[in-house]
Amino acid sequence: STEAEKGLLDGLDPEQRAAVQAPRGPVCVLAGAGTGKTRTITHRIAYLVHTGHVSAGQVLAVTFTNRAAGEMRTRLRALGIPGAQARTFHSAALRQLRYFWPRVVGGPPWDLVEGKLRLVGQAAHRVGAPTEVEILRDLASEIEWAKASLVAPDSYPDAVQRRRREPPVPAAQVVQVYQAYEALKNKAKLLDFEDLLLHTAAVLDDHAQVAEEFRERYRCFVVDEYQDVTPLQQRVLNGWLGARDDLTVVGDANQTIYSFAGASPRPLLEFTRRFPEAAVVRLERDYRSTPQVVDLANQVISAARDRPAGSRLKLVGQRPVGPPPRFAEFDDEPTEAAAVVRRIQDLVDAGTPLSEVAVLYRVNAQSETYEQALTEVGIPYLVRGGERFFERQEVRQAMVVLRAASGDAVSGDLPEIVRKTLERVGLTAEPPTGGSARERWESLLALVELAEELVASVPDADLAKLVTELEVRAQAQHPPTVEGVTLASLHSAKGLEWDAVFLIGLVDGTLPIQFADGDEAAVEEERRLLYVGVTRAREHLWMSWALSRAPGGRRHRRRSRFLYSLIPDDHPTARVVRAEAGTKTATARLRCRVCAAQLVGTVSIKLGRCSDCPSDVDQALLDRLREWRTTRARELKVPPYVVFTDATLM
Ligand code: ATP
Ligand code: MG
Repeated sequence: STEAEKGLLDGLDPEQRAAVQAPRGPVCVLAGAGTGKTRTITHRIAYLVHTGHVSAGQVLAVTFTNRAAGEMRTRLRALGIPGAQARTFHSAALRQLRYFWPRVVGGPPWDLVEGKLRLVGQAAHRVGAPTEVEILRDLASEIEWAKASLVAPDSYPDAVQRRRREPPVPAAQVVQVYQAYEALKNKAKLLDFEDLLLHTAAVLDDHAQVAEEFRERYRCFVVDEYQDVTPLQQRVLNGWLGARDDLTVVGDANQTIYSFAGASPRPLLEFTRRFPEAAVVRLERDYRSTPQVVDLANQVISAARDRPAGSRLKLVGQRPVGPPPRFAEFDDEPTEAAAVVRRIQDLVDAGTPLSEVAVLYRVNAQSETYEQALTEVGIPYLVRGGERFFERQEVRQAMVVLRAASGDAVSGDLPEIVRKTLERVGLTAEPPTGGSARERWESLLALVELAEELVASVPDADLAKLVTELEVRAQAQHPPTVEGVTLASLHSAKGLEWDAVFLIGLVDGTLPIQFADGDEAAVEEERRLLYVGVTRAREHLWMSWALSRAPGGRRHRRRSRFLYSLIPDDHPTARVVRAEAGTKTATARLRCRVCAAQLVGTVSIKLGRCSDCPSDVDQALLDRLREWRTTRARELKVPPYVVFTDATLM
């Protein structure tokens, strides 16, 4: 109906409308974060259905995570199109395979692999490759990478040479494990995730009748987050399309964050080469974030090297001005977490719903401190894209060995005992280089640090006490909930948005992650991760880091190198802009680090508070201020990054 049509176009700007109304055929929307790409494609689907160009059942929309697919289904339902399918590549392929399997292969469809690591372990054992759990995990990722990149075992050594990242074991050995894994899996009639896509593509290529039937059923294809498509997914998409071109893709090359897993923005950037007649739409208005967040996002990404043409889009904020983004530096991680949680409480008190708050981090192991801090104050949370700390496999394994060892009579240096005990489940002295291996190493190390923490408060604590303490903590964790603060990795936050976003743990070595060092492409991917993080925030954005891990630790870390251009490093000293000295209640006009670059009114030395935001002033700074008042020095010498308990004034 025309009423419905009008409604669909009303909430869109002219460029979005152009994409929605483009005739059926190839359409490409290249645009930055928060510009309404996802909104545009859902409206396009609804528009095509309402105008009778296609029926809802003929539409297949694909994206990359279950959450994003679910979100798209919700939006389509809200637009009156409940029949359109919105799925991940994998779930779309699984559904199609189930349908065609009896005819193409015969018999019931094979089951999905469960306990993949066990299978990789058997394969490794068979060919005499190392079978430590850490290496098996990396071998599993390596096989996933190869399959997603359409690299067969034979061509693996060549392909891996072209890549900068080293394989976990020599390439020839990866090939053997890869082959043995495939053989074992096929013999057991099992499918892994990549097989779902490989088989789907093969069926469409080899069975003309099936392909025809499929193409009769689905006529209109839409892909969200197209910048992260893998060669394997692209092959499936090609199979779905056949010789047709009814394909709408949307993406942002600046948000490519899965190239380590084989994804590439090339199909997005070269879309018009493949479809010269494609309608191309660029969106620049950012509807998600405040102009300050948008500015920051522009700054983060403009520093990127080698930005391909087509990704040099500048975002223009559309929303009213909001609070300035905040940067905060802390002595140690628990102090950082405590400040974040205090801030969350303030937001919640001021009416922000819990579900509109997210704490985002680079590696899942970073969630532990926050799970703990939120539990302590009774704020419910949910962990996305990763398991809760005490539910992680390596932590459960560690608990088993710690419990077993706690019976033995020992009490020496507890953290050392814990470290030694955890060597049995793979804790090494130096961090491993692989991505997932590094995550597990961090989780195990977190347990050693919990031991250090316990000893700091209970000097004679032994292993049994620690185990009890850990069990209490595990139980105290909130049960999974739907309404709570989101804890999520930056990777799993893609496409989502919250009113308040906390990007925590922004130290060099974590973002960019240490193993990216020396590999420029990998460092650039880390920078894009920060861009993804910054652009998740609608209104409140907080970025923080801690100079050491544990309280009293050596302060040897530096804030992320990506932040240097955002917070100039050459701020020589904190400057007193104007001050009235000499009286007991002397006030000084300073810049508050927590309210970022704005000049705040006055700081009362007596109260020790910033007058604009409720930050406490660092004690050391206060002392200096008092000293300054008495000595009447002209300038207050404070190092650029003063250690502070909650906030720094500068
Ligand atoms: P990302 O790159 O992060 O996936 P995106 O480009 O897909 O972002 P959307 O999630 O579609 O962006 O939109 C971002 C926010 O802006 C959403 O809250 C959406 O409802 C809103 N929005 C999009 N377009 C408009 C518009 N024309 N008017 C008002 N709000 C809009
Ligand atoms: Mg989106």
